[in-house]
Amino acid sequence: MSDHLVNAYRPLPVSFTHGDGCYLYDSDGKQYLDALCGISVTSLGHNYPELTAAIQQQASTLLHTSNLYSIDWQQKLADLLCESAQMDRVFFANSGAEANEAAIKLARLYGHQKDIETPQIVVMQHAFHGRTMATLSATGSRKVQAGFEPLVSGFVRVPYNDIPSIEAIAGQNRNVVAILVEPVQGEAGIVIPDPGYLTALRKICDRNDWLLMLDEIQSGMGRSGRLFACQHEAVLPDVMTLAKALGNGVPVGACVTRGTAAEVIQPGNHGSTFGGNPLACRAAHTVLASMLENRVADNAAQRGKQLFSTLQEGLAENNRVADIRHLGLMLAVEMKTPCQSIVNRALDRGLLINVTADRVIRLLPPLIIDEAQTTEIARILIDCINDFTE
Ligand SMILES: *Cc1c(COP(=O)(O)O)cnc(C)c1O
Repeated sequence: MSDHLVNAYRPLPVSFTHGDGCYLYDSDGKQYLDALCGISVTSLGHNYPELTAAIQQQASTLLHTSNLYSIDWQQKLADLLCESAQMDRVFFANSGAEANEAAIKLARLYGHQKDIETPQIVVMQHAFHGRTMATLSATGSRKVQAGFEPLVSGFVRVPYNDIPSIEAIAGQNRNVVAILVEPVQGEAGIVIPDPGYLTALRKICDRNDWLLMLDEIQSGMGRSGRLFACQHEAVLPDVMTLAKALGNGVPVGACVTRGTAAEVIQPGNHGSTFGGNPLACRAAHTVLASMLENRVADNAAQRGKQLFSTLQEGLAENNRVADIRHLGLMLAVEMKTPCQSIVNRALDRGLLINVTADRVIRLLPPLIIDEAQTTEIARILIDCINDFTE
């Protein structure tokens, strides 16, 4: 281990040399079934042939120019994204946090354009929106915020999945300009709101001229069993942020806008040197086109059901399990006690998973996974959980 890395992470004692489809391989040649996808990033699996070819070809053509010039692949990607999400205009960034920064800045600008001098954004308890100063301030986790005060102001926090508390704010606070919310809370432990939640948020936003801003960075790009999680309720946001699986491992983020929100940002308001560069946009275009062509969201819906019912059956007798829930291939097994050690047990047995919010085993497998691989994930995980007696 190098002494020259900032101690931001505590990595597991394994390092991978290459990957292929749903599998990763370490330096000893041991194979691992990847049920995490680098936290919902490599949704098409590793070394996806079409993407590899597109990246190689783009690398031998053009990596970067500048947003001072028009960029072909950026326009093609924006067209395809807007067509598939029924949105109007896209700002490209390099990460999820940056996509959310763009959304937060857009909401403030929207407020100022309406002569609201101290615009506020409604955000949720236990939300996760990133690690930059504005996005960590929007995040609803003390662990993420502690030590970084003073936080960025302009956020009002309410409980997730609780419409009345937002109605109450709408009646009192004339400075609110937007709601920023995850359709499914990922880092909080795959927390799925009641059906109708997004529809109710949409109505409140319409009634109050607020922007509905959906953070689909984890839930988007087919992960939930629909291309975007908001499509489960046929709700259109004003702003939607994407990153993670958008580039299948090539860093790219997007702030996707519609209607009035699409006209808020004007030349000079916002920018990025790398954002929207030819390599990232070609990669993301290839990813999105493949996802649409191969209907991976439908596969995510089917395999998600299979994984959920196999786990339910296999863990029915285990009284340490508090809950099992899923939307598509976002799946959680919530334990009654902290269970970080299950990650190492699974690693030993060649399965990559993660624990979030202390007690929640999180599975985010590739969306291209087949029936046999799904059964295999369930089989190994059931063994690990049944062996867990701490
Ligand atoms: C991962 C994530 C982010 C932050 O994305 P980064 O690329 O790590 O900056 C923001 N919101 C949600 C919902 C996420 O899951």
